[in-house]
Amino acid sequence: MTKIDAKIPDGNLAEKWTKFKSSVPLVNPSNKRSLEIIVVGSGLAGASAAASLAELGYKVKVFCFQDSPRRAHSIAAQGGINAAKNYQNDGDSVYRLFYDTIKGGDYRAREANVHRLAEVSGSIIDQCVAQGVPFAREYGGLLSNRSFGGTQVQRTFYAAGQTGQQLLLGAYSALQRQVGMGNVQLFTRHEMLDVVTIDGKARGIIARDSVSGALERHFGHAVLLCTGGYGNVFYLSTNAMGSNVTAAWKAHKKGAFFANPCYTQIHPTCIPVSGDHQSKLTLMSESLRNDGRIWVPKKENDTRKANEIPEDERDYYLERRYPAFGNLVPRDIASRAAKERCDAGFGVGSSKMAVYLDYAAAIIRYGKGEANKHNMHSPTDEEIQSMGKAVVKEKYGNLFDMYKQITGEDPYEVPMRIYPAVHYTMGGLWVDYNLMTTVPGLYALGEANFSDHGANRLGASALMQGLADGYFVIPYTIGAYLAAEIRTPSMSTDSEDFVKAEKAVRDRLETLMNIKGSKPVDYFHKRLGKIMWDECGMARSERGLKASIKEIQALQKEFWSDVKIPGEIDNLNPELEKAGRVADFLELGELMCIDALDRNESCGGHFRVEYQTEDGEALRDDDKFAYVAAWEYEKQSSFKLHKEELKYENIKIAQRSYK
Ligand SMILES: Cc1cc2nc3c(=O)[nH]c(=O)nc-3n(C[C@H](O)[C@H](O)[C@H](O)COP(=O)(O)OP(=O)(O)OC[C@H]3O[C@@H](n4cnc5c(N)ncnc54)[C@H](O)[C@@H]3O)c2cc1C
Repeated sequence: MTKIDAKIPDGNLAEKWTKFKSSVPLVNPSNKRSLEIIVVGSGLAGASAAASLAELGYKVKVFCFQDSPRRAHSIAAQGGINAAKNYQNDGDSVYRLFYDTIKGGDYRAREANVHRLAEVSGSIIDQCVAQGVPFAREYGGLLSNRSFGGTQVQRTFYAAGQTGQQLLLGAYSALQRQVGMGNVQLFTRHEMLDVVTIDGKARGIIARDSVSGALERHFGHAVLLCTGGYGNVFYLSTNAMGSNVTAAWKAHKKGAFFANPCYTQIHPTCIPVSGDHQSKLTLMSESLRNDGRIWVPKKENDTRKANEIPEDERDYYLERRYPAFGNLVPRDIASRAAKERCDAGFGVGSSKMAVYLDYAAAIIRYGKGEANKHNMHSPTDEEIQSMGKAVVKEKYGNLFDMYKQITGEDPYEVPMRIYPAVHYTMGGLWVDYNLMTTVPGLYALGEANFSDHGANRLGASALMQGLADGYFVIPYTIGAYLAAEIRTPSMSTDSEDFVKAEKAVRDRLETLMNIKGSKPVDYFHKRLGKIMWDECGMARSERGLKASIKEIQALQKEFWSDVKIPGEIDNLNPELEKAGRVADFLELGELMCIDALDRNESCGGHFRVEYQTEDGEALRDDDKFAYVAAWEYEKQSSFKLHKEELKYENIKIAQRSYK
């Protein structure tokens, strides 16, 4: 086992980034014009990086598999984006955002990166406002904030329940400006299927044009993977249907270490699974926990309707167990608490695998506030209800509409039923302080890297990290590499390395097409998802993980001998695309179980049933596991563990408490 170098700059935590920026090698403007950068992914991380790098003068090529960059999964983000602006005057600061993030991640994130993230968070908001992102505002014009889990301040900026969409429109505008100026070349409906390395450095990619099926070779002095998370390994998740691990997995097989693959975030407030034929789960934003109260009946197996259960027969279990943070405990804790209540027989709804998220009290509270504002001294119950609902509608209307459309129930009248679902992956490609993977010249940004969130991401911090990486980090850190590349000319894609890489991609596609088995791709994906959810989901055990690794290996064999892919190779073929992605998920799933088995402790979203406190909280083992697990691919089903030791010099590492 070797140790890996995160290249964290020396000096005091609060000065590292400033010093780094002042001393990192620069590339002069005329040299920038001859350096080419490939950006794979056009979500918040990719679009912001591509726009910023093109603005600096680099020649940029952007790839995405959707028909427009605006359809990247980032568009789905609902609740908001964090920043330490302290507009609320409630005691926020860069240090507090840093502290909350490290603690929220259960002390498994890198201090220097998280502090940098907190430092640049304020600039992200300024940048987005300048682009015209319509953040919610107070009456006086200041930007408005709400709370997300794991914090006691209000630092989340939002645009109704569509924050990701509005931020993406901002980043997309910046990107299109550069497309218009000829500095960015856009390749939509292109799927990257391999990284090309030459003499150990990333020098390009092989991409498939999804419409024609043609394979293409593209050169870049550097390659940035901004390809999102891999939550869909579980089949059912809140991620966009197309989200996948292929780009990161191909990079992994070319030498990029994969870090903490087992760290998965299960979000506590999603619409529960309703049947076998479902292919997607829907998130009800965490912002709803600002005002909604979560409860189950105190009586086991209570069959009464929610509104028939009197107040004193309800168990507001989060408020009971965690009085200091109440309904706003971090996601891992809220998810486990919901599972615990349901497993103990207190769940609600027909499946009994759900808890209530109730807005009745908030409606009355807001209604009374409105009545006071309007000098109504004795408002009727109806008036209070009506004014309260109007406030809730203003804040969360689109989310309430979505819930009603999906479930047929009106959340203004009856509590919503919610249950945890797979949502985000903290694991990803290992990167150093510069966001470079273990392959020189190959970078990973946004959800695709192992990120700054440790073992559990706090709500509204993914958008912050993706945009920090793209707008404010990579434009500086890439100089450290490219300054030494100014003498490298643009390379021909007719070279042997490119030809070989393309051939390997074609061979694999042909092998898949030629299996001509009997089962559709989804059959295998669903089976993998079930194994992952049952054994590598909210609760994990040594016995279950060992069995899963064997089951997944058997499933891989079955897939490669019995998958059926209709259509043609040289044509639009969504089943072929899906097959390639599921083949990669099958390998990733195995590594996730190996990683989960190796980490003999519980931390954040990784909950090993053998390691818990008396109260059922995650029990870390800091002496043995205060490290990032970075896995190197050796060969099929064989991975080598490398460790990046995590040092906490500015925070006292402690048992996480939200009581
Ligand atoms: C329902 C939902 C709500 C959320 N709400 C919030 C929120 O309120 N606040 C918050 O902070 N976070 C939220 N998140 C998390 C957040 O949205 C994501 O973590 C973030 O948007 C990821 O951005 P990204 O740029 O890294 O990747 P993505 O937006 O996933 O973009 C990936 C890009 O990579 C491209 N791509 C992938 N593979 C390939 C390939 N092989 N070849 C070519 N292109 C490829 C895709 O085409 C796409 O352009 C939410 C997540 C979900 C699921």
